[in-house]
Amino acid sequence: MSYDYDDQNIFAKILRGEIPNDTVLETEHSLAFRDIQPHAPVHVLVIPKGAYVSFDHFAAEADPVEIVDFTRALGRICQTENVCPVDGHEGYRLLSNAGPAANQEVPHMHMHLVGGHSLGAILPRGG
Ligand code: 5GP
Repeated sequence: MSYDYDDQNIFAKILRGEIPNDTVLETEHSLAFRDIQPHAPVHVLVIPKGAYVSFDHFAAEADPVEIVDFTRALGRICQTENVCPVDGHEGYRLLSNAGPAANQEVPHMHMHLVGGHSLGAILPRGG
């Protein structure tokens, strides 16, 4: 399987510092920033700094050090955004769109972290 990465995508530009972002956390291999059009009170995008188009690409080809860094960064943000379902907080949802079926808008692997209010059903039902 071969993946084509377009280095002109918006998140690649954010990583190069060409477009500003509201950074939540930066680590050696990951960057997290607030979504420009939030769907919930908490809506953070977490991305690896490496050139991966989708979660499956990242999972298949990223170095384990990158994967651990990404996972730990995501977990830390759940804590700092106060959405871990402990101590009376309500919890959160993680979601990663990949490809046209999921309407992936930006072809750089990202995880949406949403929370801060009740999130409803996982997906709208229907055709
Ligand atoms: P996707 O549909 O690819 O999973 O979601 C891409 C997300 O990136 C969308 O929620 C969109 O609002 C967000 N987004 C698109 N362009 C920018 C940008 O320039 N800055 C930030 N912070 N978010 C963006």
